[in-house]
Amino acid sequence: MSKQIMVAGLAIGGGAPVTIQSMTNTKTEDIEATVAQIRRLCAAGCDIVRVAVPNKAAAKAIGAIKAQTDCPIVADIHFDYRLALESVAAGADKIRLNPGNIGGEERVKAVAMACAQKGVPIRIGVNGGSLEKPLLQRYGGVTPEALVESALSHIALLNRYDFDDICVSLKASHVPLTMAAYRLMWERTQYPLHLGVTEAGTLHMGTIKSAMGIGGLLAMGIGDTLRVTLTADPVEEVYLARDILKAAGLRRDGPELISCPTCGRTNIDLIPLAQEVERRLEDVQKPITVAVMGCSVNGPGEASAADVGIAGGNGIGILFRKGEIVRTVPQEELVDALMELIHGMN
Ligand code: SF4
Repeated sequence: MSKQIMVAGLAIGGGAPVTIQSMTNTKTEDIEATVAQIRRLCAAGCDIVRVAVPNKAAAKAIGAIKAQTDCPIVADIHFDYRLALESVAAGADKIRLNPGNIGGEERVKAVAMACAQKGVPIRIGVNGGSLEKPLLQRYGGVTPEALVESALSHIALLNRYDFDDICVSLKASHVPLTMAAYRLMWERTQYPLHLGVTEAGTLHMGTIKSAMGIGGLLAMGIGDTLRVTLTADPVEEVYLARDILKAAGLRRDGPELISCPTCGRTNIDLIPLAQEVERRLEDVQKPITVAVMGCSVNGPGEASAADVGIAGGNGIGILFRKGEIVRTVPQEELVDALMELIHGMN
């Protein structure tokens, strides 16, 4: 089992539930826009939000942002250790930085001490695109071993100052490489792992890559927290992360939609119907399984494991619960009737 770290009272690792992270794409110093986006992310199910800290104004903004949201905030730092110190002083709950890139022992020591004093963990975020040149030369490119060695060297720098409040990510855009790197790290250390496939792409391909990479690792029992990266509204990342956790059998804090693939028996325009149900379930928090099936002959039976469902009948719609037909309704009223049934459930 991995070691456990705490991010503002939220546990990562050590058997704690796998948490969902995302990152804002607002200018962090635009406090109003950043807080609004953090609230949307949290409403969608995000547990921890990272904000970019490219300058002092962004670091200072963390204090005001934290005053307006309960969400744990991670400061994303590249190269400038002073921004890490500013972020910790402003109340950041976690820092993401690579200590090997901040320019020397004294700086690493200063960051480690500031974080230790406030109980702020550090995520070491190794990225295939910015791997150190000597490692690239030694391993002949980005390999799982090179990614892991990079992480271990950053960890060693922090350990030198007795800092061990660490989690690690090893992201690459190539899914098998990413998976192999995480697996190797998991075999060699006990640090909690922050899963992700970087630059995964737009919604379609990003979904496939993330589901494979992150979902595959979770299915092997590897990973303690995750961030899906998509070239899309970050709220989509959270929806997808939730669905990956559900598909991996790790979360039941919202509905799961199942729907049939349609066939020659389909008696209703199922695709838009399933999409509408999916959209209207986004605000439902009940841990239920909802089925959307094409025909009343096989639908209720095939979806008998679902808590509730709808199916197309001959010119009508069928509402069913645990495989038993509740009533028939006109097809155009089917989704409303389903939602009414769901909202009335305990
Ligand atoms: S539920 Fe009915 S329409 Fe859907 S795949 Fe099964 S038989 Fe075909």
